[in-house]
Amino acid sequence: MRPVYLDYAATTPVAAPVLAAMMDCLGTDGVFGNPGSASHEYGDCARSTVERARAQVAAAVGAEADEIVWTSGATEANNLALFGVTHYYAKRGKHMVTSRTEHKAVLDPCAELVRRGWRVTYLVPGAGGIVEPHQVAAALTPETVLVSIMHVNNEIGVVQDVAGIAQVCARQGAWLHVDAAQSMGKVAVDFARSGVDLMSFSAHKVYGPKGVGALCVSRRAGVQLAAQIFGVGQERGVRAGTLATHQVVGMGAAFELAQTLWIGELPRIKDLQQRLSQGLMALGGVLRNGDSQNSVPHLLNLSFEGVEGESLLAAVAPQIAVSTGSACMSANPEPSYVLRALGRDEQRAESSLRFSLGRFTTEAEIDVTVSVVKQAVLHLRRIGGAGILGA
Ligand SMILES: *Cc1c(COP(=O)(O)O)cnc(C)c1O
Repeated sequence: MRPVYLDYAATTPVAAPVLAAMMDCLGTDGVFGNPGSASHEYGDCARSTVERARAQVAAAVGAEADEIVWTSGATEANNLALFGVTHYYAKRGKHMVTSRTEHKAVLDPCAELVRRGWRVTYLVPGAGGIVEPHQVAAALTPETVLVSIMHVNNEIGVVQDVAGIAQVCARQGAWLHVDAAQSMGKVAVDFARSGVDLMSFSAHKVYGPKGVGALCVSRRAGVQLAAQIFGVGQERGVRAGTLATHQVVGMGAAFELAQTLWIGELPRIKDLQQRLSQGLMALGGVLRNGDSQNSVPHLLNLSFEGVEGESLLAAVAPQIAVSTGSACMSANPEPSYVLRALGRDEQRAESSLRFSLGRFTTEAEIDVTVSVVKQAVLHLRRIGGAGILGA
C-alpha cells in the first residue's frame, strides 16, 4: 500500500476533469496546433482554446483575461514580477521590501537584486507569522519601487492581509507583488478588489498539472514589465515562447474547478485538521507553529518536543508522506528559515513537521496518521532520552 499522502502543499494530484481537458489537447485528433499560428485552422483552434483557459483563470482570480501572463509556474511568475518591475522602474529608485518568510522563489531573486546593486529590506513577521501593514509602511521610502509579500505561507499556512498592505503601498506609490501560489482553493482570491498590482499563481498546488502558472499584471494600475524572455514575442512581448496548450488548459480547468468547490470543501478540511491536531496534541509537548486564527485549515505545522524532525520523518515515511517544510528544502538539513524567522529556536524549528490536507484526504487517513506519528514520537522520545531537549 502507498503511504497516506499529506503533502498537498508540495503538490497535488491532477483532478480527473482536469486530466480529461488536457487529454483533448494531445494526440493526432487533439488540439495540437501552435496557438501562435495565424495562417490555418489548427492554430486558430489552439489559440481559442488557450484564450478560453485564460478567461477561466481570470474569472477564478477576479482579474481580466488580458491581465494574465502564462508562465511555467509560480517560480517563473515571481521572477518575472520581481525582475520585470525592478528592471522597468529602476530609475525611480533601487529599493524593495519583502519578508523573511517568503518562498525561495522570491528570496532568491531578491538576493540576485542585491548582487545587482539593489537594497532589499526583509521584514520580520510577528511570532505568529503575520507581517503587519504598518511594518510595510515603516519600511517604504521614496526610492521603494516594489514590495513582495506572499498571501498564504506554504510552510505554516498563515494568511497575510494583502489588501491592507496594498493600501499602504498605493499611498506611497510602490508596486505590490503577491505570491499567491498557495491561495487558490484555500482562501478567497480577488485580484481586482485586493488592490494588488501583480499576483503569482501555480496550477499544481490546485489539482492542475506541474509546469504551468500565471502572473496577473494589473491593467487598472498600469504596471509595466520589462521582458525577461525574448523570442517571437508571445504574451504581448512580456514572455516569449510557444504556449503549452495542454498545460494552460489544465490550469484553466483546475482553477475553474477550485473556484466552484473550495467553499464547499472547507468545513470538511477544517474537521479533518481538527481531528489531526487534537489527536497529535494528546501526546503532550506538541506546539503549533503559526497564528492559528489567521491560517488556512489545509496546513498544520507542529513541533514535537524531544524529537528531531528528520528522524520523525524517516520513521513515518513508509506509512505517511509528509515533509518538514517546502519541497525544495527537504534535501537540506538546515532547520526551516520560516520557523526561525518567527523566533523559534533551532530545536523547535528542527522538530517540526508540516501536514497538508486536501480534496482527497479521508478521515481514515487522518486516524492512521495520528496513530503512526504518535507511536514514532513516543519511540523516538524513549530512545532519544534527555540529550535532545532541555539538555
Ligand atoms: C509552490 C510554490 C511556489 C513555486 O511554484 P512552482 O509553480 O512550483 O514554480 C512559489 N511560491 C509558493 C508560496 C509556493 O507554494
